Amino acid sequence: SMASPALLMRVVASAYSVAEKAATIVRNVMAAGDLGIVEKTGANDLQTKADRLVQMSICASLARKFPKVTIIGEEELPADEVTEELIEDGHCEEILKRTCPAQYTGIKEEELVIWVDPLDGTKEYTEGLLDHVTVLIGIAYGGKAIAGVINQPYYNYEAGADAVLGRTIWGVLGIGAFGFQLTEAPPGKHIIVTTRSHSSTLVNDCISALNPDSVIRVGGAGNKIIQLIEGKASAYVFASPGCKKWDTCAPEAILHAVGGKITDIHGNAFQYNKEVKHMNSAGVLATLRNYDYYASRIPNTVKQSLVP
Ligand code: AMP
Ligand code: MG
Ligand code: MG
Repeated sequence: SMASPALLMRVVASAYSVAEKAATIVRNVMAAGDLGIVEKTGANDLQTKADRLVQMSICASLARKFPKVTIIGEEELPADEVTEELIEDGHCEEILKRTCPAQYTGIKEEELVIWVDPLDGTKEYTEGLLDHVTVLIGIAYGGKAIAGVINQPYYNYEAGADAVLGRTIWGVLGIGAFGFQLTEAPPGKHIIVTTRSHSSTLVNDCISALNPDSVIRVGGAGNKIIQLIEGKASAYVFASPGCKKWDTCAPEAILHAVGGKITDIHGNAFQYNKEVKHMNSAGVLATLRNYDYYASRIPNTVKQSLVP
């Protein structure tokens, strides 16, 4: 008889369905019209009712199925009872059928860390830039991002009424990434994607030093990785602290699964073990191709300003 699927594949298959439920919550909160906005550290660091409900939904749903896995979510929430309607117990059958890469078949629950950004691009969500928003579930083992799910709840929202709204992208190192059309950026063009709402002099000086052909300013770490894997941008450059481990874990797994690279601005890999500092203090540099071109052109003055 068939052996039961490896833990990693069961976690990814569940995370896929949990992220789809999350997307429904994100759309429902917006449709109901009361966002319940709370400022965290300031006006550019917001939390809405959707961030709160989605985090409860994702964390409680995954914890129920995988009680020994460490789950770290962005939002600090009171340890309230989670209502049953927030629980998703489904999974994606297609993912469960995939063969787990040999190096991951022996993973135990207590060895996994799941990094959850319930709603990435909250600032843009509150401003109606809905396709910037993603739900991020990143799965780490041995300190490395090895699998991830990115749901984009408002994918296609400007494509008309017949278009299917929303999509789920998933990936595992050694299998690949799915749910989108992998596309390379125009060759010979340097198109930088960066923050829209967290700019600074350093962020802009770093981009200028790369002498780009164009700069795309959009919200969300998940959204910016989508720009890379769909060939809209050639590099994601953010020379500032501000991004946290839950912003980069799922995007990193998906980008690495298709041969891309993401590091801090010095070229250091991110670590995702449960004890790690949450802040990515030394910024973000990511590409699908030609990582070295951009890494070699980050000015030393920029590097000296960003301590890992
Ligand atoms: P952005 O590219 O500005 O959308 O940022 C990507 C992610 O990092 C989002 O989750 C932001 O909330 C977070 N982030 C970046 N910079 C900051 C900051 N200065 N303060 C708070 N969060 C930030
Ligand atoms: Mg975020
Ligand atoms: Mg968030």
